[in-house]
Amino acid sequence: MSKKKKKSAKHLQKSFLHSIVGDQTSGLPVNRENLSIASQRSYGIPTVYIDQKYRCRKCGAQCVFTAQEQKHVYEVKKANINKPRVYCDDCYQRLNRLIQDTKKAEQQWIADKNHLAYDRAFLMHWLGLINEMGGFRTRINYGIKAMLEKKIRKL
Ligand SMILES: [Zn+2]
Repeated sequence: MSKKKKKSAKHLQKSFLHSIVGDQTSGLPVNRENLSIASQRSYGIPTVYIDQKYRCRKCGAQCVFTAQEQKHVYEVKKANINKPRVYCDDCYQRLNRLIQDTKKAEQQWIADKNHLAYDRAFLMHWLGLINEMGGFRTRINYGIKAMLEKKIRKL
């Protein structure tokens, strides 16, 4: 190999390395110490956050989980870094609302079971929440669902 060729090969390698480093620095750096303990203990933690494309599991919308959002979710909100985002913003908010409303219904039930067992509107509302949650392919309480269906049938 001539001296000139050698030089250009070296130059090529250098620019190739530069392009890799350039890609990494275009993401946001991961500050390991800000991650939750569970995240810190997991394997293969990335050194940078890079925008991730995904499809909403509920409605099929094309979404981007941006590097900025990832940093916030994993380092400020301390979510587990191994849990990928599966819903779009709207579906995520709707699911959270359903979870909250379901918890509220459970608390109401515990506080006033004897009365609410005959309250058709309440039972239907609670069953509706559980059924809608089922559409998110998330875990639902089948025991409560069966109990509500039985009570509604008897009314
Ligand atoms: Zn969606």
